[in-house]
Amino acid sequence: MRRKLIAGNWKMNGLRQDGLDLARALAARIRGGGPDCDWLVCPPAQLLIPVGEAIGGSGIALGAQDCHTEAAGAHTGDLAAPMLADAGCSFVIVGHSERRTDHGESDALVKAKAAAAQAAGLTPIVCLGETEEQREAGRALEVIETQVTGSMPGAAEPLVVAYEPVWAIGTGKVATPEDVAEAHAHIRGLLGGIFGAEAAEAIRVLYGGSVKPNNARDLRALADVDGGLIGGASLKADDFLAIANAVPAG
Ligand code: PEP
Repeated sequence: MRRKLIAGNWKMNGLRQDGLDLARALAARIRGGGPDCDWLVCPPAQLLIPVGEAIGGSGIALGAQDCHTEAAGAHTGDLAAPMLADAGCSFVIVGHSERRTDHGESDALVKAKAAAAQAAGLTPIVCLGETEEQREAGRALEVIETQVTGSMPGAAEPLVVAYEPVWAIGTGKVATPEDVAEAHAHIRGLLGGIFGAEAAEAIRVLYGGSVKPNNARDLRALADVDGGLIGGASLKADDFLAIANAVPAG
């Protein structure tokens, strides 16, 4: 049984006080008996340590939004996976569509980042998903196949995959439950081809893309959806908790 993971991607949002207020509000509510699932927040890099301190003991895990492929070296502005582990992270998002678009990240680079994360003891959350043009051209499953094949690290564990159709991220458009179910089943089948069926069954596949309290319930019935990667709605404690409440325990 895969336990649900509700992950918040704060992106490039939050000064120190905003981040602390949000982290403290979440920690207080979850310590007091929140929904039964795994929790993760991925603040921007400058907030990793203070947010990590604020959520300490609450059961909420800390994650980063990106890492470099190398463990150290002359890479100005980058952060290595061992540094993130040292800052208290246990997860790192890699291959988010905003990084694939803004920074031209390829599947091969995402794969190397995911492998670097695993080598540092972090769980990579490997993001993938098709653009609107690709879906409209009937190429969604083919694009997903290319990304899964090209972006996965060498080991099936620890690993989380996030299916995030690009056209649904931050747009308010949500994929239909049928489209999500089809994509997730496809991803799990592809993971089975790479890692073997048994290992693939253990990998959590999250959905992300404009998930809000009012649409999270539609995703709950989908067997292959193991939680959510939540962007905008993770910046409000009430919304983030309401999304988790809509997801059945497990
Ligand atoms: C994301 O950033 O991964 C995301 C899904 O964003 P949003 O929920 O805002 O669409």
